[in-house]
Amino acid sequence: MKYKTIAVIGLGQFGTTIAKMLASMNHEVLGVDINPEIVQKVSPYVTHAIVADTTDEEAIKALALSQFDIVIVAIGDNIQANLMTSMLLKEMNMPHVVSKAENALQGKMLKKMGVDMVIYPEYDVAQRLAQSLTREHVMDYLQLSKSISLIEVDMPKFLVGTCLKDSNLREKYNLNAVGIRRGEDLEVPPNPFTILSAEDKLLIIGNNSDLDALTV
Ligand code: ADP
Repeated sequence: MKYKTIAVIGLGQFGTTIAKMLASMNHEVLGVDINPEIVQKVSPYVTHAIVADTTDEEAIKALALSQFDIVIVAIGDNIQANLMTSMLLKEMNMPHVVSKAENALQGKMLKKMGVDMVIYPEYDVAQRLAQSLTREHVMDYLQLSKSISLIEVDMPKFLVGTCLKDSNLREKYNLNAVGIRRGEDLEVPPNPFTILSAEDKLLIIGNNSDLDALTV
């Protein structure tokens, strides 16, 4: 892995968590927040930490971010500050800006400004949890597009004792198995000849309606 230089603006719960995580992976991390107490608290865990109001054009320019590979805007509650910071970064031609959005309208505005990646951490976690709690046998759920998802399920009964090659998963259910989880091990891509057991989990990609047929 090539180490990156990453700035995280807004050191709330999400910003601090991602800044610490990236720093622990040995990336060079600059943490930025308007609140000096927060900056002081996060400072030991990141490469550099600076106090700045990033809605102030002069202040954000003074951060000399042009050498950074990625800038993450993790300002949450203050939507105006999130939008202004993101806009200034794109005006400064930062090549890779990731911004956290609280709702779809904010996400739309960020995209219009040219933000490269809009994330909805709370929405994503809530959706995955809601799906895995309410769908029987579903361990994890990741929506890849409006209609396509990746799920991890308990091994469906009709596959136990058989292998993917002999299963009719693709023909009958229109689904693709992309991995087999056996204990701690994850077999990706799955060996088509592995005999599947009831304790295994299966990772499957497919249309939501096809996945429903298997899991609801
Ligand atoms: P979370 O929900 O992840 O805890 P918050 O919205 O509570 O996120 O926190 C975002 C952080 O962004 C706060 O620490 C706040 O001080 C910081 N912040 C808010 N406005 C600015 C700004 N204009 N410039 C820099 N940091 C800011």
